[in-house]
Amino acid sequence: MSDATAAPQTDLSAYTTLRLGGPASILTVATETQQIVATVRNAPGDVLILAGGSNVVIGDDGFDGTVVLLRTRGIRVVESHEESVVVRVAAGEPWDDFVAYAVDQGFSGVECLSGIPGSAGATPIQNVGAYGQEVAHTIVAVHAYDRRTGTIRVMPPAECGFAYRASVFKHNDRYVVLEVDFRLARSSESAPIRYAELARNLGVEAGDRVALQQARDTVLKLREQKGMVLDPADRDTWSVGSFFTNPVVSAAEWTGLGLDAPHWPGDDGSVKIPAAWLIERAGFAKGFAGDGVAISSKHTLALTNRGTGTTGALLDLARTVRDGVREKFGVELHPEPVLIGCTF
Ligand SMILES: Cc1cc2nc3c(=O)[nH]c(=O)nc-3n(C[C@H](O)[C@H](O)[C@H](O)COP(=O)(O)OP(=O)(O)OC[C@H]3O[C@@H](n4cnc5c(N)ncnc54)[C@H](O)[C@@H]3O)c2cc1C
Repeated sequence: MSDATAAPQTDLSAYTTLRLGGPASILTVATETQQIVATVRNAPGDVLILAGGSNVVIGDDGFDGTVVLLRTRGIRVVESHEESVVVRVAAGEPWDDFVAYAVDQGFSGVECLSGIPGSAGATPIQNVGAYGQEVAHTIVAVHAYDRRTGTIRVMPPAECGFAYRASVFKHNDRYVVLEVDFRLARSSESAPIRYAELARNLGVEAGDRVALQQARDTVLKLREQKGMVLDPADRDTWSVGSFFTNPVVSAAEWTGLGLDAPHWPGDDGSVKIPAAWLIERAGFAKGFAGDGVAISSKHTLALTNRGTGTTGALLDLARTVRDGVREKFGVELHPEPVLIGCTF
């Protein structure tokens, strides 16, 4: 199998949802799984896997190495049971196309993840989640090329280290995800609705189920209102979604902080604090602007490129917000996207 073919342009800003990032030394497009493996195996220096470009911040100087654009496609049922199916999805498949397919087929378990940009293969990287669902609930295997051993491995969830916006794949270039297997229930109804805001908008109680399409439509509507569905005409969506994760502190730290903030207790006694609450109370309102960049006018957690921004300016804004929150509350904010060729 040959390596992937050269891409038309090497400016990485064309391939990120922030529309930021400098040149790549080599940029290739892989449309078949074997091409991904061959290209990664034969690349002369550093390799960057890029799919939807919706969770990366790439430095203005770009990437000195080979960028592999994942454009593999394919969704197929590999196991069919009376009550469930296992669906295998190619890494480059657009995530929301897969969700739409599942809803259409009457396969339940990913409907609340509607509208999330990017590829199916990137969802295990940070255990993508929203509105009470995360992919760790449905992934049964990740097929990955292991660059250390040069083999393709089928990794069960126990080997994936899934946690809140984290897994063994994040900040680790050992594995290239080639395909992902999801176990979905055969049902015209959603999984139990866990997220209070979504339940409210659906007019049901937490724990109730609704029709799959109704769950999808309501999630899409809520996400659109927050600028969380990509729209090229709306600069509030020129982002990586949430720039900061919600800080997780120990029970003792939480008590010590003495905050009158909304919070979610975790199973292990930890406490998750909404980053948006901290940012707003530290004095950074929606629309707070830097040089060509700004906090989205619809969502406090999204840092956006207004059209004339640079990665440098975006990170300056991120540092201003982080430092303001630290000064006011003594809580540290951490970036959710992967930073490439730049530091925070
Ligand atoms: C408007 C908006 C809303 C968002 N909402 C959410 C949300 O609700 N919940 C959420 O969790 N995320 C959200 N995100 C973040 C993002 O969409 C997800 O993290 C998504 O899974 C990233 O997919 P991608 O294909 O764009 O990955 P990329 O940005 O291309 O890559 C992200 C990282 O994963 C690596 N990577 C990508 N594919 C592979 C692969 N096949 N194998 C190995 N490494 C790989 C890359 O090298 C990079 O380090 C949002 C982003 C935007 C712009």
